[in-house]
Amino acid sequence: MVRAFFPRPKSRPMSTLAAPAIDFSARPRAELVDDGGRSLDAVLLVTADVAEAVAAAVAAGYAVMPAGGLTSAIGSFDYAKDGLGLAGVVAIRPKGAVAAEMVDAATPWEAIKSHQLAIDVAAGTVACGAGLTFAQVNDALAETVGPDARVLIDLTSIGSASVGGVVATGGMGPLRLRPSATLEAVVLADGGAPKRIAGDDLAAVEGLQGWTGMVAAAVLRFYRVPPSEFGLVLPVQGSDVDAMAGLLATLEPWTRVELPAAGGRLAADATLLNGIELVSRDSLETFVEHAQDPARAKAQGLLQSCEYAGADMLACLTGWSEQAVDDVLFSLMDPETETIGGVTIEFGVGFSSGAEMDTFRAIREGAPDLARTRARVTPEGRLKPWTTSTDVNVAVPADSGAISDVLAAYADYRAAIRALGKELAGTVDVELAAYGHLSPNGVDPHHRVTLFADVGQQGALAAARQAVTACKRALIRDLLHAAERSGARITGGEKGAPSLVEIARAAGGESRLPPELRRRLDRIRESVMAAPPAFRFRAPAELTGG
Ligand SMILES: Cc1cc2nc3c(=O)[nH]c(=O)nc-3n(C[C@H](O)[C@H](O)[C@H](O)COP(=O)(O)OP(=O)(O)OC[C@H]3O[C@@H](n4cnc5c(N)ncnc54)[C@H](O)[C@@H]3O)c2cc1C
Repeated sequence: MVRAFFPRPKSRPMSTLAAPAIDFSARPRAELVDDGGRSLDAVLLVTADVAEAVAAAVAAGYAVMPAGGLTSAIGSFDYAKDGLGLAGVVAIRPKGAVAAEMVDAATPWEAIKSHQLAIDVAAGTVACGAGLTFAQVNDALAETVGPDARVLIDLTSIGSASVGGVVATGGMGPLRLRPSATLEAVVLADGGAPKRIAGDDLAAVEGLQGWTGMVAAAVLRFYRVPPSEFGLVLPVQGSDVDAMAGLLATLEPWTRVELPAAGGRLAADATLLNGIELVSRDSLETFVEHAQDPARAKAQGLLQSCEYAGADMLACLTGWSEQAVDDVLFSLMDPETETIGGVTIEFGVGFSSGAEMDTFRAIREGAPDLARTRARVTPEGRLKPWTTSTDVNVAVPADSGAISDVLAAYADYRAAIRALGKELAGTVDVELAAYGHLSPNGVDPHHRVTLFADVGQQGALAAARQAVTACKRALIRDLLHAAERSGARITGGEKGAPSLVEIARAAGGESRLPPELRRRLDRIRESVMAAPPAFRFRAPAELTGG
């Protein structure tokens, strides 16, 4: 499908930046593959100076495909090149570094190179080049400001996703805070001089996947967090939605994030639950088969806890506190019944700072990672697997009825997928792994379905794919109805605009969305249509007026 036509410019457009001549035709092939397995037909430029490279590419009539850590390039390369009137596509990747290069705090943000960092301790801000990871940003903050200083970007891919990619996807981790919650500004390169974007205008960049320009740097506020970190894993029965809802409603007050001024102390004198995450027993079993000790042994212990408790899922709680871990647990627990929100903690497993938390994270993040990896590998004698994952973020009130309504929609989805698996047994294998976010700020438990079929079963695989897509659309519609009934709020998903478009398609059109989402989509459409063609060529037809 042709999404746009744009002629090759005769002269450099709108640029006040002296773009150096780069012979893009002599660049190596990009050899990048997106999450859907589609390879990118483009040349590659890895650069420390994103704005300069973008200006040169646009001046030469190239379209720009921004590339970050490639941890989430879902459908990113799904566009038709023919008929665009392009000289070609160039994938521009900000250069990274083993460790960030520190530059003076007074360095203008527009001058920050992709591997550089400027910390302004007095202002409580850190300006980060697009090619760094937020793990590197936190390392630099720990060294310069103190071990408790960090940015509140907590994606579980924090060590591999890039600063630019995280802003472009609007990704959020267990805390369920979007980058814009703590973003001071973004430096955007779209062919002209780099632009500083801040405040409400961040909506024209965050979550837009680079369709409006390339993030060259991001400036974030940093905070001090309480010194002690803890984890608690509770076996739960996922199909008992009322029990799960009771647990989440009880924990809700501890999940509220109140941001102090930049550089200030978060959750002073209090405990903050910075994550309530779900790991299904199925994905834990797969993890145990492939993992190494000590995570394997610990995961085996957790499986045993599931066995004793008759549970099919684990709720993984993490938090920061000024208190000792035992005191924190005591404050969360009902001392009479020794339960948290009605869930017995008898089979719970606790983790505290240091190596134990590393093991905890290896398990919590290893299980979903394996599900993703399995979906990418084609087994011998089988077709390329097909996979899809849910991504709808629902902010729920501290009301167990409302939460249970939302969780019931997922329970129905799991039941429908399991029924499909039984129906297709012998022709298509249906795998379901559930993991992800249960925090009341954002209930978004990703349900990944992966289909496997033997070579020669293309027809059966295509039919199964259609059936799963129909179930997923029904889930999204159920979530929209549940939210409308119960005062919950659908805020989009972790993949920014693509998740919003998927929600609108499932709803049967934007007119059926809640007003807040309709307004966001209108705003996104406006920004995409105003963006240079060299960037907007990848955006879906709904957003380009096509
Ligand atoms: C193990 C694992 C754990 C994950 N955990 C989470 C999680 O907790 N929460 C979450 O939200 N996501 C998560 N993800 C998904 C992914 O890490 C995020 O979406 C992340 O933000 C993508 O960053 P990236 O640098 O890899 O971007 P890429 O995958 O390279 O690109 C993603 C999109 O952003 C665009 N882009 C990249 N860089 C730029 C730039 N500089 N300027 C403009 N556009 C750009 C690309 O063109 C593409 O459309 C996880 C993924 C993995 C593999």
